[in-house]
Amino acid sequence: MSTQTVKKYKERSLIEYQKEFSTEKECIKHLQKMRWPDGFKCSRCGHDEAWFIRTRNILDCKKCRAKISLTAGTIFHKTRTPLIKWYWLIYHMAMDKTGISISEMQRLLEINDYKTAWLMAHKVRKAMTDRDARYSLAGLVEIDDSFFGPKGSKRGRGSERKSTVLCAVSLYRDKTGKEWPGFAHMKVVDNASAESIKDFLERLGCGITMEERQELMEAIRSDGWRSYGKATTDKDLAHLKVVLRDPKAAGKLLPWAHRVISNAKAVIHGSHRGVSGKHLQSYLSEICYRFNRRFWEKELFDRLVQACLSTETITYTQLIGC
Ligand SMILES: [Zn+2]
Repeated sequence: MSTQTVKKYKERSLIEYQKEFSTEKECIKHLQKMRWPDGFKCSRCGHDEAWFIRTRNILDCKKCRAKISLTAGTIFHKTRTPLIKWYWLIYHMAMDKTGISISEMQRLLEINDYKTAWLMAHKVRKAMTDRDARYSLAGLVEIDDSFFGPKGSKRGRGSERKSTVLCAVSLYRDKTGKEWPGFAHMKVVDNASAESIKDFLERLGCGITMEERQELMEAIRSDGWRSYGKATTDKDLAHLKVVLRDPKAAGKLLPWAHRVISNAKAVIHGSHRGVSGKHLQSYLSEICYRFNRRFWEKELFDRLVQACLSTETITYTQLIGC
């Protein structure tokens, strides 16, 4: 195996992708390269040569005979689906801006049952979610909330209830002072209360001390939502822009948060034809993952494979139980 260092993320067009990953063997080779970019190294003895046991996707160290699984600790662990099908799924999920439905993937990849295709896509979404969880938002942040769910359904209780979603987009200014979006995050919450918003912001790394938290709560309770922006400015929390309660004005005053939400609704109601509240979060995470990497479009496939390699797998029971 080569010890030469390779560039971590390669840029590829669709034609280049098709040429490079036309067989299972090529996919395995790529996965190995992504896992050991400087060449294989035995985790037990440090030796750099191994036999590959193809039937089990295992590397057998030529020196100490340690058996090292190619897929342990990754979303591909214990999969019975060929890697070539996984790779096509990842390619589509990385590149297709409008999302691709499970039944479409099942048909394209000739996967026998819907459940297998569904589980594979959710495993990739988990990798996307875990990857994005590493990032925090900095600078100015736009926040907005919205409701997702079947059209005409109520926001209240019942099986058809809508889900409340918070959306935060970090902004930066160019030389002319114009604002541009950086990273976006969306989170399904129980309600759009001050408490939910603060928990969301804290998780995104927008720190608020307990004292400030208390004062913010007071301001929101006494003066309504518009005070939220003012209170945060007064407290020198410049990263919080404004929280709006008037959906009609959102497009003008919170253009980027509004755009991310509109895009998410288009994807969810379009390609996926609606998503249950239970799994909404993973679809939102997928949308944010692509949005957050929109400048690296051609590298997205490699980046997503890397994310899939860096996260533990999840079982069907865990997915439907959560
Ligand atoms: Zn060894």
